[in-house]
Amino acid sequence: MKIAILPGDGIGPEIVAQAAKVLEVLRRDGLKIEMEYGHIGGAGYDAAGDPFPKETEELARTCDAVLLGAVGGYQYDNLPRPMRPEQGLLRIRKGLGLFANLRPALVYPELVNSSTLKPELVSGLDIMILRELTGDIYFGQPRGIKTLENGERQGFDTMHYSESEIRRVAHVGFKSAMKRSKKLCSVDKANVLDTSMLWREIVTDVAREYSEVELSHMYVDNAAMQLVRAPKQFDVILTGNMFGDILSDEASMLTGSIGMLPSASLDENNKGLYEPCHGSAPDIAGQDVANPLATILSVAMMMRYTFSSETAAQRIEAAVRSVLRQGLRTADIFETGMQKTGCAAMGDAVVAAL
Ligand code: NAD
Repeated sequence: MKIAILPGDGIGPEIVAQAAKVLEVLRRDGLKIEMEYGHIGGAGYDAAGDPFPKETEELARTCDAVLLGAVGGYQYDNLPRPMRPEQGLLRIRKGLGLFANLRPALVYPELVNSSTLKPELVSGLDIMILRELTGDIYFGQPRGIKTLENGERQGFDTMHYSESEIRRVAHVGFKSAMKRSKKLCSVDKANVLDTSMLWREIVTDVAREYSEVELSHMYVDNAAMQLVRAPKQFDVILTGNMFGDILSDEASMLTGSIGMLPSASLDENNKGLYEPCHGSAPDIAGQDVANPLATILSVAMMMRYTFSSETAAQRIEAAVRSVLRQGLRTADIFETGMQKTGCAAMGDAVVAAL
């Protein structure tokens, strides 16, 4: 299990250090884990003048899996676009062909009161959002800002999806649904966008190979509404890059804190990049208050999806549940009566529970 560790910026190094402690325990207990560190994002720019330096690219290519903290920081906001930290993320996803982004939104019974929604709406919630990650309007060409004949400037981007891009991510969606409760909702905007009309046609076609899965289609505006109205109606949500970006952040709030949410981005062979859903949280960086659980749970996803070690995955998830049951809480999920814990102490508690 060769793992590239890219802490990145802001709280990235603090939270990744806790996940590395978990990997150390798994190694001590017999898994053949090798870890090698590299720079990405602002840290890559500082070290090598590039948010995705050549050495990091090489490291990522030769590893089986990548664990990433987060990228971004105020000090990089005025850099030219190709040098911005976020470009490091887009390039590693594209470079490794990580087209399938899995983001579970799961409400732990202990945290049901941290959600902004009523407990009865979210209690027991367990959704898997599958977002296509390497196509759509974020990568489409042409794009830019041009000056029109009347002297006014116009911004433009191009949304496109090819049949093969839709087909391969749809297969991942149906396979995930088969392992869960066999329900898949494909989200698009087929009433307005041609790209979405093709999306719907191909997803419907792929569904013929998975007759046990109940397929439904929903327009993205309705999906955004249904996610806060009755989120438990969903099991697997399959959607494109931009819609998935927005809906998965919305779904994260159903669970209480973005600090609890892991993610996996996979290629055709289940090589994966694992990272928390949140960003680099520069507002709390260096204060030992960040929640490391999303990053630790990302290691559980790595064990499950890249290394097919369900035992290790469940062991980590059980340890996280156990610290929550003990009443330990970082500031983002704190409620009166619980024990407020820092980032490193939370990592230690998970290690102890393991
Ligand atoms: P953010 O996710 O970093 O922070 C949003 C809010 O959530 C902040 O109040 C933050 O303190 C809090 N938060 C986030 N993670 C937390 C954690 N683990 N524990 C406790 N609280 C946590 O989003 P933002 O503020 O919009 O962006 C900050 C920077 O991160 C920007 O530079 C942005 O581009 C970048 N970003 C990176 C990624 C990524 O690396 N995948 C994703 C989103 C944003």
